[in-house]
Parts: sequence; C-alpha cells; structure tokens
Amino acid sequence: MSEKGSKKALKGVWKLYVIQDDKIVSRRVDCPKCGRGVFLAEHEDRLTCGRCGFTKFKR
Ligand SMILES: [Zn+2]
Repeated sequence: MSEKGSKKALKGVWKLYVIQDDKIVSRRVDCPKCGRGVFLAEHEDRLTCGRCGFTKFKR
C-alpha cells in the first residue's frame, strides 16, 4: 500500500479554535470527565464524548 498522502491526521486541528475579540475561543466543548483535549462530538440536540460516553444535552 502506498503511504503517499497519508499525513492528514493533524490537518484542521487549528480550526477547532476561533479568534474572537482578541481571545482564542474553543469551538468545541471539553469533556468534563476526560478533561481538556477530549472534545465532545456535536449532535443535533446533544454533545457526546466518544471516549467515555458522556452526554450533554443542549438547551
Ligand atoms: Zn469523556
């Protein structure tokens, strides 16, 4: 198998953050159980952690 073009693992990581009013704001929510760096996956009405299964419902 060719390894060409397989270096895409870290691509787009910076997009998780956005500059807002001169501050870096995380666009993702950290999992309260797993800690920083583990983001919750966004769903229609809830956020879930793919690591521990934590679920947080949106208002
Ligand atoms: Zn978690």
